[in-house]
This record gives sequence, C-alpha cells and structure tokens, in this order.
Amino acid sequence: MAHVKEFSVEEKLVSLVTLQKIESKLDEIRILKGELPMEVADLEDEITGLHSRQTRIEEEINGVTEFIEQRKTAIKEAEALIKKYEKQSSNVKNNREFEAINKEVEMQQLEMKLAEKHIKDATEEIAEKAVLLEKAKKNIAAKEGVLATKKGELEKIITANEKEEKHFNKLAADAKEHVDSRLLTSYEKIRKSYRNGLAVVPVERDACGGCFNAIPPQKQSEIKQHKKVMICENCGRILVDDELSAKVEVK
Ligand SMILES: [Zn+2]
Repeated sequence: MAHVKEFSVEEKLVSLVTLQKIESKLDEIRILKGELPMEVADLEDEITGLHSRQTRIEEEINGVTEFIEQRKTAIKEAEALIKKYEKQSSNVKNNREFEAINKEVEMQQLEMKLAEKHIKDATEEIAEKAVLLEKAKKNIAAKEGVLATKKGELEKIITANEKEEKHFNKLAADAKEHVDSRLLTSYEKIRKSYRNGLAVVPVERDACGGCFNAIPPQKQSEIKQHKKVMICENCGRILVDDELSAKVEVK
C-alpha cells in the first residue's frame, strides 16, 4: 500500500523553501559554468586569429626582404655590366660604337638608381611591418595571459562543481520527496516561467521578494499564520514570511 503522508501547511512551506534554496544553488553553479566556457572559447578563437595575423605579417616581411635581396643582386649585375662596358669602350673603333656603349652604361646606371630607390622604400616598409608585428606579439601575449587565468578559473569551478552539483542534486531529490505532489507541480511550473528560477519568495520590506509588489498588512499576517499557501497576486509566486524563510538553511 502506498504510504500517504499528511503535511501541515507549515511543513509544506518549509519543504518548498528548502527545495527552492537548493535549486537556487544549482542555478548559481549553472550560471557560473555557463559563461566561462564561452569566454574561454572566444579567447581561444581570438588568439588563433591573432596568430594568423602574426604569420601573415612575418610572411610579408619575408617577401619584402626577398625583394630587397633581388634588388641588391640587380645592382651587382649592373655594376658588373658597367665595368664590362667601360673595358669595351677602351677598344672602340668608331664614334657610333662609343655612343652605343655609353647608352648601355647610362641604362645600367638608371637601373641601379631605381633599384636603390626600391630598396629604400622596401626598408621603410619593413620597419612599419616590424612595428605591427611587435604589436601583434604583445597582443597575443596579453590575451594568452587572460586565457590562462580564465582557464584556471573554469577548471576550479568545474572541479568545485562536480562535488557541489552532486551534493545539491541529491539534496534536491530528497527535498522533492518531502514536497506535496500538487504543490510540487505548481512550484515547478512557476519556477520554469521565471528566468531567475524563483517560485517561492519571502515577503521583504512589505513587498513580494519576487516582483516587489506591495503586500497589504492583512495578507502579510495571513502569510505568517501558515494556515494556507499564499500566492502573490501580481506574479503568482508562492509567498512565505521572512522568518520562515530565514530558518531554512541549505549547505
Ligand atoms: Zn510577486
């Protein structure tokens, strides 16, 4: 035969407040856990992005450095050609040949000037990129520092939670056994309808602890009598007196 328990209103209210306090603890843990993993993931994404930025700048610097080397080679080649032409000009047979060689020399001199200008511009470009690279590296180091801290926090919370969550889940299951089943159904329905998960609230400073709507003195004294379960007219939450609520401690 089913074991039917009869509870007084006060017992019912104490059980409900107990359950509410346990489940609020679980809500707190969930909120803590809910945000840190996201923050860690965001930071990791950001750091990956910064690393690709660093790689891109380094590749650009390598590209420009290579360009400078090519231009330096071009200068050496031009110098060699000029030397060759100068030698040739000592054995020219006529004015036309001399003019032609002179033109070649001038061309190579222009070539050299142009290469020098390229090298100067490219060197400036590298200096600018080096500043960007330094910035990117510093940024990465800073973000990695924050990430390490957040990861540490998260790990701590997860470790702490495993134990606490198990503990409070067990307490919640036990507490539910002691709550009148019809009342439990209403409690769960109200709890689900509010984001802060509060279904049972104390009267605080003459107002509902859930919606802060004023509770008239007559109703407050009825709440204190524990003769029936009282509901806030404004938000529908179950109301208990401050004294009863304070008596219930959850650890
Ligand atoms: Zn209310």
